[in-house]
Amino acid sequence: MTVLDVDSVDTYYGPSHVLHDVSLNVEADEIVALIGRNGAGKTTTLRTIMGVTPPKNGDVRLHGDPIQGLSPNKIRRHGISWTPEDRRVFPDLTVAENLRIANRVEPDNEGTNRGTTFTVEEVYESFDRLDERRDQRAGTMSGGEQQMLAIARSLVGPPVELLALDEPSEGLAPKIVDDVRDMIERLNERGMTILLVEQNAHLALELADRAYILETGHIELTAPADELLADQDVLETYLGVR
Ligand code: ATP
Repeated sequence: MTVLDVDSVDTYYGPSHVLHDVSLNVEADEIVALIGRNGAGKTTTLRTIMGVTPPKNGDVRLHGDPIQGLSPNKIRRHGISWTPEDRRVFPDLTVAENLRIANRVEPDNEGTNRGTTFTVEEVYESFDRLDERRDQRAGTMSGGEQQMLAIARSLVGPPVELLALDEPSEGLAPKIVDDVRDMIERLNERGMTILLVEQNAHLALELADRAYILETGHIELTAPADELLADQDVLETYLGVR
C-alpha cells in the first residue's frame, strides 16, 4: 500500500528552480532513505511534502489524495509529521512543557486517523533520557537529548503515519547516533513508516529498505538500500563516501 506519492514535482525558492521533476514513493511500513550531497535538495523535498514550500508543478499524494496546497498544520493532522533539521525545541521551556505544547495540536476529522498515536506518557516510556529530564530546560540539554526531544515532539498529538526525519544524526556523537538508530528501528517496528533524510549515507542505508539518491535537485537513482550499500562506485560518485 502506497502511503506517500511524490509525483513529478518542481519546487522553487523565488526564481531559483531547486527540485526538477522529483518523484518518489513510500510504501506502508517501509523506511525509505533520501540521500545526497550538501545542497542536493533533500530538505527542500521534505519542505515540499509538508507544504512549507509547496511545489509549482506536480502532485504530493497521501493514500492517493492530493495534499499539495494544504497548510503544514493540516498536513500534520493528516498524519505526516516532520522533524526539521534545526531541532525545533523551545530552549527556555522544560522537556515536559515542550511536549505539552506539541501535544496540543488537535486531530482533524478530515485527517485519515491512520497511524500510531503516542501519549506524552508513552514518549517517556520510550525515551528514558527525557523521562529523567522532565523538569530540565531543553536548552541546557546535550545535542543528542535535544534531538530526542525534537523527535518526541513530532510523535505526540494527532496519529503519525509517516515520520519524515531531516538529518537526525547531524552533529551527534557516535554513541548517540546509535541511540537515534535504535529509536528509528523501534518506531518502525511499532508500525510507523519513515522517510529518512541523511547526510550520513551509511547510517541511512543500513536502516532503510530502499533509497533515493538526489543530485542537484534530480532523482539520480533509486534501489534497495543493501544494493547501494554494496556499490562502491555509487557511494563514491554520488555521495563522496566509501
Ligand atoms: P543540506 O544537507 O546542506 O541541508 P539539502 O540536500 O537538504 O542540503 P536543500 O537545503 O534542500 O539541500 O537546498 C537545495 C538548494 O536550494 C541549495 O542550492 C540551497 O542553496 C537552495 N536553498 C535552500 N533554501 C533556500 C532558500 N530559502 N532560498 C533560496 N535557496 C535556497
